[in-house]
Amino acid sequence: EAVVRLQAVTKRYRNGVLALGPFDLTVKRGEFVALVGPSGCGKSTALRLVAGLAEPSSGTVRIASRRARSGSGHAIGVVFQEPTLMPWASVRGNVGLPLKLSHVPRAEIEPRVMAVLAQVGLRDFAGAMPRELSGGMKMRAALARALVTDPDILLLDEPFAALDEITRFRLNNDLLMLWRELGKTVIFVTHSVYESVYLAQRVLVMTPRPGKIADEFGINAAEP
Ligand code: ADP
Ligand code: ADP
Repeated sequence: EAVVRLQAVTKRYRNGVLALGPFDLTVKRGEFVALVGPSGCGKSTALRLVAGLAEPSSGTVRIASRRARSGSGHAIGVVFQEPTLMPWASVRGNVGLPLKLSHVPRAEIEPRVMAVLAQVGLRDFAGAMPRELSGGMKMRAALARALVTDPDILLLDEPFAALDEITRFRLNNDLLMLWRELGKTVIFVTHSVYESVYLAQRVLVMTPRPGKIADEFGINAAEP
């Protein structure tokens, strides 16, 4: 069952830059797919199109999500390289914000926040402020915030690129465990071939701009 389907998608920015395409992408429910390619090839653009944060110049973007159809939103959770936590709110406050904004009853927010913080390894940091967190912990908080609404699809745009190698390795392993546990569809953007091969079931290799999928291979070792 295809959850994400992009067909003949192109994206030209207002400054005339053709960033992407024609680009075709089909992702099945529960798959872990990596998009890998050189800097500037349009990986972020592709992810923004899937997230609905940008409109394609041509072609179609289709997301088949139970949640999208039921209209309750949050079909998709997104994590960017910059964790963008609100500095004035605690980890608990940051992670609970998407629930607050979608009017989830207060009594439900706390247990859901604590459950997702436990999943990402931040159980003991609910009361901490973002400035007290290391880079890896900030990223864990951003991941928790993306997961707290229980989205069908998780989009990750170079999430660990700014972290040191050991922290990145830990987060890669924890992300794989989460994926196996939660069964979400994941699209992971990276310029690291190593990271893509380590994480994904299927690696899509993009050309330099305008980004198209030039090659694709499956990784058996990543099967759950
Ligand atoms: P769109 O055509 O999708 O509306 P815009 O040209 O309005 O995109 O730009 C959207 C945002 O991206 C703006 O905030 C702009 O500053 C930023 N931006 C512009 N050029 C670039 C670029 N080369 N790389 C990354 N971001 C850019
Ligand atoms: P990647 O994620 O692979 O590094 P991007 O999708 O960020 O690639 O960018 C693809 C191309 O589009 C680049 O040349 C970039 O400068 C340009 N670009 C990205 N965002 C914008 C924007 N908002 N406005 C204009 N050009 C952009």
